[in-house]
Amino acid sequence: MENCIFCKIADGRIKTDAVYEDDKIIAFKDLNPVAPVHILIIPKAHISGVMALTEKDKTLVGEIFLVARSLAEQFGIADNGFRIVANSGENAGQSVPHLHFHLLGGRKLGWPPG
Ligand code: AMP
Repeated sequence: MENCIFCKIADGRIKTDAVYEDDKIIAFKDLNPVAPVHILIIPKAHISGVMALTEKDKTLVGEIFLVARSLAEQFGIADNGFRIVANSGENAGQSVPHLHFHLLGGRKLGWPPG
């Protein structure tokens, strides 16, 4: 996608310090972190959000969760707990229309979310 900011990060048009990368997935620190650990995990291919997922994405989503698990260990938030969030649509406040999973931790996270 020509003007998608996360596509630009995924294909290197925007430089980022990736904390994880393979041929299908990239993870990087959120520009405006809301927790001591705030990492975004995205598919490199453009998928506009959760509602655009199809059967063919089942393995990809599973792999994203395994990356999240591994990053939680790497960033020291596995033991105390963390949250994985995928905002979908306007009411959830999705601001970037490219599927992404927030990995949040390093502080007590309130529930329910605002
Ligand atoms: P959401 O509101 O769920 O769509 O999340 C989008 C997230 O992307 C926000 O937390 C932003 O801070 C983050 N973000 C936007 N642009 C960038 C960027 N260039 N690098 C890192 N994070 C970004």
